[in-house]
Amino acid sequence: MTVWIEVDLCTGCKRCIKACPYGAIELKDGKASILEHCTSCGVCLEVCKEKAIKSDAKPRTIPDFSDRKGVWVFAEQRYGTLSKVSFELLGKAQELAGTLNQDVSALLFGDQISGLSETLIKYGAQNVYVADDPCLKNYRTNAYTMVIEELVNQYKPNILLMGATHIGRDLAPRVSRRIGVGLTADCTELTIDPEEKILLQTRPAFGGNIMATIANRFSRPQMATVRPGVMEAVEKPGNKGSVIQHKVEIKEEDIGTKILEVVMEEKKGTDICDARVLVAGGRGVGDSEGFKVLHELASLLGGELAGTRIVVEEGLVPVENQVGQTGKSVRPELYIACGISGAIQHRAGMMNSRYIIAINKDPRAPIFQVADWSIVGDLNKVVPEMIAQLKEIKANG
Ligand code: FAD
Repeated sequence: MTVWIEVDLCTGCKRCIKACPYGAIELKDGKASILEHCTSCGVCLEVCKEKAIKSDAKPRTIPDFSDRKGVWVFAEQRYGTLSKVSFELLGKAQELAGTLNQDVSALLFGDQISGLSETLIKYGAQNVYVADDPCLKNYRTNAYTMVIEELVNQYKPNILLMGATHIGRDLAPRVSRRIGVGLTADCTELTIDPEEKILLQTRPAFGGNIMATIANRFSRPQMATVRPGVMEAVEKPGNKGSVIQHKVEIKEEDIGTKILEVVMEEKKGTDICDARVLVAGGRGVGDSEGFKVLHELASLLGGELAGTRIVVEEGLVPVENQVGQTGKSVRPELYIACGISGAIQHRAGMMNSRYIIAINKDPRAPIFQVADWSIVGDLNKVVPEMIAQLKEIKANG
């Protein structure tokens, strides 16, 4: 596609120069001029009031997607246990499907896992597509991709959601490429556009400094991943669902990978995504001695220790306990932020906490904007005082 200027029509108003996201238009002798690095994105065409910018691109027509129905959730399970994010996605799927007046369906893959369908129905699935076969026992990219491709081609869903887990981050891009659709990763919000009835997928962009909303008009299903802890699981008591068994006819030699052994990682403590109380520390905590005090507070409250990226990079908190955009999204009952400034990338992971207490010596720290209780002070005094008072309460029964 080529973009060019009809110089006789151009008034040199500079609107196109301001609008061009690539800085690919300049003013030459009072007229707009397209530079070599123009990407032909077409933004300038829309802003030119004189219709002086021309393009040879044919307008793209939106295909008829009236046969595309249903909001699907890939229900991830490992060793017969469904991941929490599957329920959270079903919660969001119920809301989206309600707006579209369509069904919620779950995809359940594995070996001897059909019994899990009931749980998915309890969390809002109206259909559960089950692929129960020994070749799907452990996750393998090709095998799972092939089954999803078959199901998508057969049942034509409108929306397909996956958790941004280790499996989801591997599977979703492979599926999206295979079925030829776009994918928005790590969404923090999903809604339906009231007019176009398409999925609006919101996610942080440019290092988390802006939120971008992405929509896909030209292909189906609309695919998105969401990190665990971002959406809310909603039980649907009395929900009735159908279980549809999908026959798997994949040959072992087509899968391409063979699992020789599964070695389980030893788990220390509770996953911060499951903790009811989190005591999180930032750079203000200082050193490992400071973190020992935070750890004591967490233990007294029956919670876990978490941290910002900075303290994880300094080796003060394990990487699996990092909260934020590149860490985990958590939703505890109580989040105590100690010596944390509240950068947007950190807030992205803890905003869903029920109650937030922030302790910071700087009264202008951004963390106070999201805190329910703000304690302006030195954490080296505040945290030991909290510990002392908690011990006293415990001692008095
Ligand atoms: P600082 O910003 O240095 O804040 C320290 C705070 O401690 C200050 O507010 C200070 O007033 C206070 N303080 C100091 N001493 C005391 C004291 N004695 N008592 C009380 N308060 C005290 N960050 C994350 O956390 N998670 C992420 O997932 C993440 N992902 C990122 C992704 C990208 C692409 C980028 C660019 C950045 C990311 N970051 C992430 C980093 C983020 O931008 C911040 O740099 C980081 O969160 C700041 O950590 P902090 O609050 O510990 O440190």
